Amino acid sequence: MARYRDAVCRLCRREGTKLFLKGQRCLTEKCAIEKRNFPPGQHGKARRPKIVGYGLQLREKQKVRRLYGILENQFRHYFEKAASSKGVTGETLLMMLERRLDNVVYRLGLATSRAEARQLVRHGHILVAGRKVNIPSYQVSAGQEIAVRESSRQMAAIQRALDLTSGRAVPPWLEFNREAMQGKVISLPKREDVNFPIQEQMIVELYSK
Ligand code: SF4
Repeated sequence: MARYRDAVCRLCRREGTKLFLKGQRCLTEKCAIEKRNFPPGQHGKARRPKIVGYGLQLREKQKVRRLYGILENQFRHYFEKAASSKGVTGETLLMMLERRLDNVVYRLGLATSRAEARQLVRHGHILVAGRKVNIPSYQVSAGQEIAVRESSRQMAAIQRALDLTSGRAVPPWLEFNREAMQGKVISLPKREDVNFPIQEQMIVELYSK
């Protein structure tokens, strides 16, 4: 599957905010946003132009797409599915992104970034309801158990992630037993469970033009 392969800190600098794409490094002074909070490129240091209207909507969409590590076509597909579902389109879109298996693995603290979580899923280290699922976009359901495969529990990357994320709270719609490396989807996520600043209505307006 295609994915973004360029330097990810450029994405944060483009959006002018931390998107937490590099795990632990994002929490240190090495973070590019701490050192160079201006857009990448030759003219990046010039004053950020004032963005209005369409530009604002586009930036909001790009920010969310990059936060969850999703390419344009797939993001549009999520939007179309959300638009044809019952409920508020913007919220439904965010809930679909939250329910992705790679996001859940990240939220449980089994990985320090969504990219790392995606790799764990792709490589078959994660079980959903006792069965191996290697599709990062898999949508989890309420009541499902998410666990690390028995043979993967001693993996250095997982142990390291558990250490680094030990102080991070698991969102209320999930529960996690660190010793057993087992989590559970208690309920489906709600809008208030997404604590990153997102104005999803702007994305709806962008795609509704
Ligand atoms: Fe973004 Fe993390 Fe890079 Fe900072 S270190 S710019 S938060 S990816």
